Amino acid sequence: MPLAELQIDRIDTREEDARLAALESTKILDSEPESSYDTITRLAAEYFKADTVQLGFADESRVWIKSYWGESVRELPRKGSVFELVLAENCPVVVPDVSKHPYFTNGRLMIRRLEVASFASAPIRSGDGKILGVLTVFGCQPRRKMAAEELHMLESLADLVMSQLELRKMRKTFGKCRQQNARAPKAATAIWPCKSDLRHALDKREFVLFYQPEVELATRKIVGLEALIRWQHPERGLIPPMDFIPLAEESGLILPIGDWGLSEACNQIQRWQREDPDQDAPRVCVNLSARQFARKGLADHVEALLRLSGVSSHQLGLEMTESSLISDHDTAVAVLGSLRRLGVSLLMDDFGTGYSSLQQLHLLPFNVLKIDRSFVARMTGGNEQPMQIVRTIVELARVLEMDVVAEGIETQEQYALLRQLGCKFGQGFLFSRPVPADVISEMLRLPGRILPDPAESDIGGMEYMIKTPLQIQVEMGLGLDRS
Ligand code: C2E
Ligand code: MG
Ligand code: MG
Repeated sequence: MPLAELQIDRIDTREEDARLAALESTKILDSEPESSYDTITRLAAEYFKADTVQLGFADESRVWIKSYWGESVRELPRKGSVFELVLAENCPVVVPDVSKHPYFTNGRLMIRRLEVASFASAPIRSGDGKILGVLTVFGCQPRRKMAAEELHMLESLADLVMSQLELRKMRKTFGKCRQQNARAPKAATAIWPCKSDLRHALDKREFVLFYQPEVELATRKIVGLEALIRWQHPERGLIPPMDFIPLAEESGLILPIGDWGLSEACNQIQRWQREDPDQDAPRVCVNLSARQFARKGLADHVEALLRLSGVSSHQLGLEMTESSLISDHDTAVAVLGSLRRLGVSLLMDDFGTGYSSLQQLHLLPFNVLKIDRSFVARMTGGNEQPMQIVRTIVELARVLEMDVVAEGIETQEQYALLRQLGCKFGQGFLFSRPVPADVISEMLRLPGRILPDPAESDIGGMEYMIKTPLQIQVEMGLGLDRS
C-alpha cells in the first residue's frame, strides 16, 4: 500500500470531526480569498526564495487556497496533498527532494504547470492544536535541509495566519462594544460641548498638550513621548480628548486644533532641546485624525512646521489608526511615503483593532506598531489568546523590521510578560501617566533618562515620584483614563 494511504488510514474519524468543527468556527471557508493573507505568503516567498507559496485550509475533501504567491491555485483535491502529509505527521514537514519521497506516486508533485522538486510545510493550528490548514513553500529545485531558524520562521508565519483569524474574531466583539460605548456618551454630552465652545477654546488658547513617556522596556529609559491633548476649561477643569475630539472631527475644527497641536509639539521639542543642548530631545509623537490625514499637502505642511521650529524630522513621529487612513490606498501610500521621506516616524496606533491590519501593514510604510492596550490588558487574565496575539504582533513586527510599542502597561506582570515576549518598547500608567511638559522636563533630568523601577516604589509608577501642583491635578483629573 502506498505511504499516502497508510497515513490517511491513521487519521482517526473522531479527531477529524473535532478538526472540522474547529475549522467551521473560524468561518474561513465561508469568506473570499483574503488579500490580508497575501502579506504572509509574500513574506514566506521572499524569505525562502520560493517559486510558489500556498496557504490552504482543508475540509473533508478539498484544500481551499486562501492565498497564494506564484502559481495561481484556488483549490486542490485533499487526497495525496501536502496537507494530508502534514496532518499524518502532526508536525511541519520538509521534503528536500520530492522524487525520493515515497508519499508521492511516481515521485512527482505538480502544482498546475509547475513541477515541484522540494517543499516545506507548516501546520496552521487552532487554539487547541487542531491542524486546520498548511502554509507551504515550494521550490522547483531540490533544496538542502532546512536550518532550525528557517523552520521556526515558517512556523511563526503559520502562527500569524491563525492569529489573524483570531484577531478578526476579537475585532468583531470589540467593534460591537466600541460602537455601543460610542453611542452612550453622545446622548449624555449632546448639550456640551458644541462647535462654538471648541472654537472659543481655540481662540482662548485653552488646549494643552500632556506627554506620556515611551520607554525601552529593558532599561526604562525614556526614548520618546506621546503628545496627548487636553482641554483646560476654566470652570470644568481638564477635559479628556475623547470628550471633544469626536466633535472636533465631525465639525472640521480638528484641522485648526490639529495644526495647533503639531506646532505646539514642535515648539516643545525645541524647548526641551534648549534645556539640555547636549542630548537630543526625545522623539515626540503626535496623534493625527482622519481629516488631518486626508487634507491635501500634509507632508508640505509638516515640512514647513519643522523648518519653522528648527526641529529635526527624526524628533517627530505621527500616530495614525488604521481607520483614520483614507480608503484610497494609492493616495495613502503616497502621503505616507512623502512623510517618511521627510524623515518623520510613522506609528500605527491601536494595532489589532482595525479592519485589515496585515494588509495595511504590508502596503503602508509605517515604521512602528503600537499594540492596542486592550490586548495588553487581557494578557494576564489567564486566557492564552490575547497573549498569543501579542506574541504574534511582536513576531510580525520583527519580520517586517518594525519597532513595536505596547500601550497601556499597568502592572508588573504585564511588564514582565512583554519583556519575555521580546517587546522592546512600551508606555503605560506603570511608568507614568500623561503629564504636563514641565513634569517631563524633570523626568528628562533623571540620570540616563531612566525612570525608577516601579517594583521599588511602594505605590508604583513615576506619577508619585514628582509632584508638582499640575501633577496633583493630573492625578485627580485627567490622568485617570476615562475611555
Ligand atoms: P491613543 O493615541 O491610543 O492614546 C493612548 C491613550 O491611552 C491615552 O488616552 C492615554 O492616556 C491612555 N493610556 C496610556 N497608558 C495607559 C494605561 O496604562 N492604562 C490605561 N487605561 N490607559 C492608558 P487619552 O489621553 O485619553 O487619549 C485618548 C485618545 O484620544 C488617544 O488614544 C488618541 O486617539 C486621541 N487623542 C489624544 N490626543 C490627540 C490629538 O492631539 N489629536 C488627535 N487627533 N487625537 C488625539
Ligand atoms: Mg496614540
Ligand atoms: Mg493607542
